[in-house]
Amino acid sequence: MPGFEIFGAEERKQVNDVLETGVLMRYGFDGMRNNHWKAQEFEAAFAKRMDAEYCQLVSSGTAALTVALAAAGIGAGDEVIMPTFTFVASFESILALGAVPILVDIDDTLTLDPKAVEAAISPKTKCVMPVHMCGSMADLRALKAICNKHSLILLEDACQAIGGTYEGKALGSYGDLGCFSFDYVKTITCGEGGAVLTNNEKYALHADHYQDHGHDHIGKDRGAESHPFLGYNFRISELNAAVGLAQLDKLDGILNTQKENYTMLREALKTINGVTFRRVPEGGEENYSFLSFFLPTEELTQKAHKAIAEAGVDACFYWYTNNWHYINGWEHLRNLKTLGNLPSEVQTQMQDLNNTDFSKSDAVMGRTISSLIKIGWTEKQVHERAEAIKNAIASVL
Ligand SMILES: *Cc1c(COP(=O)(O)O)cnc(C)c1O
Repeated sequence: MPGFEIFGAEERKQVNDVLETGVLMRYGFDGMRNNHWKAQEFEAAFAKRMDAEYCQLVSSGTAALTVALAAAGIGAGDEVIMPTFTFVASFESILALGAVPILVDIDDTLTLDPKAVEAAISPKTKCVMPVHMCGSMADLRALKAICNKHSLILLEDACQAIGGTYEGKALGSYGDLGCFSFDYVKTITCGEGGAVLTNNEKYALHADHYQDHGHDHIGKDRGAESHPFLGYNFRISELNAAVGLAQLDKLDGILNTQKENYTMLREALKTINGVTFRRVPEGGEENYSFLSFFLPTEELTQKAHKAIAEAGVDACFYWYTNNWHYINGWEHLRNLKTLGNLPSEVQTQMQDLNNTDFSKSDAVMGRTISSLIKIGWTEKQVHERAEAIKNAIASVL
């Protein structure tokens, strides 16, 4: 996920536009800003590229999830179904609103298992939050059918899968709301930033107000604006938005290079007996930011991961134990370690995560290794990488 690999003159030019006027805020100061509206420009360009009606930029991907949930009216005691394999922002955003994260199993797509989702629905469920991890997507058709049947909101976390598609639609534009991150290690970066996409006018309006203290943004005098409901400050700055504008222009080039490098690596690894790949739901196309593969058993996978690292190959991840993208790493969540008291709804409705059976997720994650796909690799480097991984796996199989 390599936006930072290609930071250059285009980003500097955009940032300098802002620095020359000194208007670092996205709202107001019309006379001083020399007609630079970087956040607005980015929103229009991103909505167009993703073929969505509305885009709201915010200060991070975590903020995007929080704003999207708030915009959809999620609040205290509402249950949001999320996967066991994700980034911590999933439960952080849900808990921030007093809502209750309900964790369910993933399947061989490395994302929400629709059967597990259906089994977890209660009268308090309001939202299903698939997370398109490592460049590929959840079975959105199945999830949408479940959401329609039970009148639930479908909120896609597309932070790791920008540019991927499902049934011809951009990931993040298929559900009721979609969220993106532009933090420093994502496919395109603002330094820090995020976005909410939606085709729902009401949610778009809610997101616009909520991320800026409830301001209705009507008229030209910020101080005189009214506040139809309470909000918060999740605004992006013009400087960050300016970087993102330049990066967005580079997105399609990044995706093409990722696909080439991914394909070379996959062709090489598929010749190994015992290696299989994550399932991409029918109708989906990945964004190729990771290549994720399975080995036959957890024990072999741990040995292979160790051998790969010892061979000097970087950026191959074993999420099951080596990272905090899986429930195994969330000791603070499992034991509800918070600074202050949690809302009583959360305390009573949360699963006992230390004693919930996630063996189906374990059976998948214990056998998964993901290689990051960089765009700066030469063809020779990709082949060397493939050889090194092949030899490392062969040494343990
Ligand atoms: C990065 C990420 C986020 C949060 O983004 P930040 O901008 O770092 O707050 C949320 N979800 C997923 C899946 C991510 O990878």
